[in-house]
Amino acid sequence: MLTNFFVHPFRSIFLITGNGFNTSTAFLKVYSLYICFRKKYDMSKRKKINFCRKPLQWAILLLLVYLLVRPFFDKQYISDFEAYCPFGGMQAFATFLANNTLACSMTLLQIAMGIALIAGTILVSKMFCSFICPIGFFTEFLGKWGKKLKMQYTFSGIPDRLLRSLKYILFFLTFYFTMTTSELFCKKYDPYYAVFSGFSVDVMVWYALAALFVTIAGSFFIHQFWCKYVCPLGAVANTFSFTLVFIIITGLYFLYNIVFQLHWSIYLAAIAISAYTIELLKMKTGFFPLFRVTRNPDKCTQCKICDKTCPMAIPVSSLTTVNHIDCHLCTDCVTQCPEKGALLINKRKLTFLPPLVVVILIVAALIFASITEIPTVNIRWGEPDQQKKSNVFIQEGLSSIKCFGSATSFIEQMKNVKGVTGVAAFVKSHSAKIYFDPKLTSPFAIRKAIFTPVITFISEPEKSKNTVTIAEIGIYNFLDANDELLFYEKLKQQGAFYGFETEFGEPIKIRIFFDNGKITPDMIVDIIEKEEIKLKIDGQELIEKTHFKVAQGEVRIADISKSVFYQRMFTPVDDTFNNFDSFSPEQLAVVEIVLPELLIPAMQDKLLYLESHLSGNDGIVRLQTQLNYDKPLLRIHYVIAKVQAKEVYKLLSDKKITVYYKKGKTEVMDNPFDIPLHK
Ligand code: SF4
Ligand code: SF4
Repeated sequence: MLTNFFVHPFRSIFLITGNGFNTSTAFLKVYSLYICFRKKYDMSKRKKINFCRKPLQWAILLLLVYLLVRPFFDKQYISDFEAYCPFGGMQAFATFLANNTLACSMTLLQIAMGIALIAGTILVSKMFCSFICPIGFFTEFLGKWGKKLKMQYTFSGIPDRLLRSLKYILFFLTFYFTMTTSELFCKKYDPYYAVFSGFSVDVMVWYALAALFVTIAGSFFIHQFWCKYVCPLGAVANTFSFTLVFIIITGLYFLYNIVFQLHWSIYLAAIAISAYTIELLKMKTGFFPLFRVTRNPDKCTQCKICDKTCPMAIPVSSLTTVNHIDCHLCTDCVTQCPEKGALLINKRKLTFLPPLVVVILIVAALIFASITEIPTVNIRWGEPDQQKKSNVFIQEGLSSIKCFGSATSFIEQMKNVKGVTGVAAFVKSHSAKIYFDPKLTSPFAIRKAIFTPVITFISEPEKSKNTVTIAEIGIYNFLDANDELLFYEKLKQQGAFYGFETEFGEPIKIRIFFDNGKITPDMIVDIIEKEEIKLKIDGQELIEKTHFKVAQGEVRIADISKSVFYQRMFTPVDDTFNNFDSFSPEQLAVVEIVLPELLIPAMQDKLLYLESHLSGNDGIVRLQTQLNYDKPLLRIHYVIAKVQAKEVYKLLSDKKITVYYKKGKTEVMDNPFDIPLHK
């Protein structure tokens, strides 16, 4: 009858109710069938969904899928799979504390997430592992299949204890290399980052493949292999669970450093070794975290469902308070326990608490990160007295400050500016706080030092043109190399601009060379002030925002001859090589030829190839270009004792030249210059 009910439900109802349809009788009969079905399949024993956990885990997974898919529909969007990573944030924070620098691409958002994780671990439990971590979600799923197929093994005793050291070793190495290089070392092997970023350039393929193999195979065959034995974030979380020990070691380190100097790597090693030792000996948390699963032995029937349910294989049924180091308060055991009140959190119905705390901490971290910013690099120099008397001003619009590397370069540039005593560079807002001695310099002088005047060639005037028009204008919000690049793109994409020169001033002075038959002064203003520019980078189209503003006033226009234009675009070169400095002027001679092609900026760029070819002869030691009125000269200096002039001419006129690259690589190519063989 039961089978019939599912195969022919309507016919069954007809049979149950007889020929006439009596609602109450029908309901009773259907209900008795349901009871029968429930008994047969024992629905009460089916797994209940942990509504406190699963929705959060699926939400994270959906977020990752969204990040993965969005770039296919939104070409402007670049997914950042590390944007919310608390582990990256912790490394960045540690780097910041040790060196006053932030790991590249790290912002306050990740740091805030890292701090939220630490706070959550100390107060509640290792909730990141149970509710957020995508690797934990995946390895738990794999583990379930390993268990179902009866292919899973649980380590215990000495192998279990020894393997637990792996995560502390990885924790130490990851922090050590990140803090010494200011680059996130975890990116090199993190299986999550490798997969979602499509093995991006930051990933060391072999490290990541090994980690991926360990994650997949380990989790399938060995119970929670990744979480228990390998995950460095698990090691960090455990370290903070042993809060008292962490505080004591940190306190001792700071006390010792008042008198002596102890490198932070010793402190890091002490933390890792102590945490591992405590885990090894106790396998329990201490006073923290404040919340734990508690079992009421009076209500517990010893059905052991909790033991089978626990993803970390903790013997819950034998404990009254679950303070096992592996417990991450996922509350699966509480959800599955069939006896009401047998498993609780801190003896109360607080199952909702861990996910609630997770959500509150994440929201708090997001809000905190959106309203504050810490510098990517913050360095002060000069005498302490000078430091005290320093003034500070904020320079915004430094769009070339994009990461740790560019922030550091900017600071190196500032170190050469007289009177500057320190810089805090901010990647997120592309700005810098510049400290300076007001007796020696001023914000105006510093802005002048930041600015590098450029002469940029865009395209050649048409052959039929004898003149080129120049417009001289003042422009605001044009400060660094990135602005120069965006400005160049703006003009280049219009197709009738030939080049531009910049000169410092407030506003910046720019002279633009263009075809007056195609472009008018009004058009120039519109082109410059347009707020968006499309760029093509690695085949991808990106839209960049620009904020250039043309200063009020006249746009000055003049015409110049084409040859004068070429002369203005000419950039002299003077390169020395092959131990030039070791020779006296008397030991050297010069070959000089007129090379008209050098007036064309594109050909000036190709001079590097010819220079490389010449440097293959160790008797040639210097290459110069000069303008002699409107004639460009190429001057090659050679050592009389090593090479003869005719050999230099021969090398210059070679149809095929050899270009030498780094690491011993060479390339043979056509000589871009057609230089006749001089006798
Ligand atoms: S705590 Fe609950 S699930 Fe665990 S053994 Fe007791 S009754 Fe069973
Ligand atoms: S003991 Fe309970 S809360 Fe802790 S990890 Fe196991 S199932 Fe999750």
